[in-house]
Amino acid sequence: MQSKIEQLRLDATKRSISFDEEDMSMNKSRKMSYTDLQTTKLTHVFELDNESNRELLNKINKLLNKSKRIIVLSGAGISCNAGIPDLDHQMVLYESVKKQFPEMSISSGKEMFDISLFRDELKISVFAAFMEKLYSNVKLAQPTKTHKFIAHLKNRNKLLRCYTQNIDGLEEILGLELSTWEDLLLKGVKFNNIWKNIDVVQLHGDLNSLACTRCYHNFPWSRYWARSLRNGQLPMCPECERKNLLRLKQGKRSNDTVGVLRPNIVLYGENHPSGDIITQGLNLDLSRGKPDFFIIMGTSLKVDGVKKVVKQMSKEVHERGGLVLLVNKTNIGDSSWSGVIDYQIMCDCDEWVEYLEEQLPDFFKTQRQIDRIRQLKREASDLRKKRLQLKKETGIKTTPPTTPTKDEVSSDGEEKDREYKYLSMKPEEGNISKLKFDQKGQLRKETPHIQTPGSKRKEASDETNADLENTLNEVTRTLLPK
Ligand SMILES: [Zn+2]
Repeated sequence: MQSKIEQLRLDATKRSISFDEEDMSMNKSRKMSYTDLQTTKLTHVFELDNESNRELLNKINKLLNKSKRIIVLSGAGISCNAGIPDLDHQMVLYESVKKQFPEMSISSGKEMFDISLFRDELKISVFAAFMEKLYSNVKLAQPTKTHKFIAHLKNRNKLLRCYTQNIDGLEEILGLELSTWEDLLLKGVKFNNIWKNIDVVQLHGDLNSLACTRCYHNFPWSRYWARSLRNGQLPMCPECERKNLLRLKQGKRSNDTVGVLRPNIVLYGENHPSGDIITQGLNLDLSRGKPDFFIIMGTSLKVDGVKKVVKQMSKEVHERGGLVLLVNKTNIGDSSWSGVIDYQIMCDCDEWVEYLEEQLPDFFKTQRQIDRIRQLKREASDLRKKRLQLKKETGIKTTPPTTPTKDEVSSDGEEKDREYKYLSMKPEEGNISKLKFDQKGQLRKETPHIQTPGSKRKEASDETNADLENTLNEVTRTLLPK
C-alpha cells in the first residue's frame, strides 16, 4: 500500500509539471478562437457523410484537433457495443433473475437501482442476484472504440478528465486511472496532487468493488461473495466484524450492527458517499483545468446532478472559445440545452470515432509517433541548413588565399611550417597542387595525389543528401496512415 501511495505522489509531481507547462501553452493558444462555431440554439447533425454537413463538420474537427484540454462526459451509450445493457435494456438480465424469485414483480430495470428497495427483504435478495448477473456481464465485456478514443486522448495529453455515469470501469482495462475515493481520503497527500492523477471520475460508483453499508470499507469481489450474492444474500462486512471482535477483546460492549456488502454503486435517491470530493475536484477542473473542448457521449442527460455538471462545464468551455459536442443516437431535443450544447451528432459513438479516424488521421497518432515526427522534421531542417552551408562554403573557397592567415602564425609570431593550397583551373581532373615551405624555408611543390577539398565536400554533401533523403523518407512513412 505504501509503495502505491509513493507512486501516486511521484506521478502527481510529474503531472503537476506538465499541468503548469500546458497552462502556459494554453495562454498562447487562447488567441485561436472559433467562437463563430458556438451556437445559441442546439444544432443537430443527422448524417456524418452527408455533403451538406461537410463544411461544418470539418470546422468542428479542426477545432477538436487543436484542443489541448478536453473534458469528456460519458454514459451507458458508450458501453452498449461492449454488450453491457443500458437501463432500458436491463430487463433481459432481470428476466433471468425473475425465475429465481417468481414471487417478485418488477416493472423496470430502473427499480433495481433505487435505494427504496432496501426497505424490503425480498427486494434486497432480488437486488443481490441482479447485481451479480450485471457484474458477471461486465466481467466479460471489452472496451469499445469510444473507450479507446478516451484512452487515446490521455495518451496525447489532451484529456483533462473523463466524468462517467457508467459503473462498468471498462476504462481501467485500457490503463486509465479510475477514481478510488480511498486514495483521495489519504492523510498527508495533497488533494490536488491525487486529483490530477485521476483520469476517469465515476459519478455513480464502481460495480467492480463491494462496499460496506455501515463502515463504507471497500473490498474487491471474491468468488465466495459472488456466490453469496447470486443466491440473493448480501455478505456480512469482515471489517465491521473485525472491529467488533477487537472491542470485545478490549472488554468493551459489542456493536450490535454489522454492515453488509453491496456493489459500490450509487443508487437513485441515495447521496453519493464521495459527493463532496467530486464537487471539490470538479471545481478544481473548472477553475484551474482550463478546459477548451467538451465532448458528451452516449447519454441523454436525464439525471439532474449530471445536468448541473454539464451546464457548469459548458459555461467554462464556451468562455474559452471552445465547443460543447453531444454524440448520442437519441435526440435530446433543444429547449433546455440551447446555449449549453452547440451540436448534437446523431449517431452511435463508435461510428463517430470511426468517422474521426478517417477525417483526422494525425489526431490518432500516438504521442510517441508525434514526437518522432517532430524530431525527424527538426533533423531534416538541420540537414537542409547544413547542405546550404556546404554549398556556400564550396563557392567561396575556390579562390586560394594569397597571404598566410592568422591561424598559420604561432602565438609568438613565428611562422610555422605553412601550407598554401590552391585549386588548379581544372579541379575535375584531380590535379590539385600544393606549395609547401619546408623547415629550412624552401618552397616545394607536392605531387597532387590527394583529393580536392571540392571532392571531399562533394562526398560530404552527398552524405548529407543521403541523410536528408532517409530522414524525409522516414517522415513520409510515419506520416502515412497505416
Ligand atoms: Zn463494515
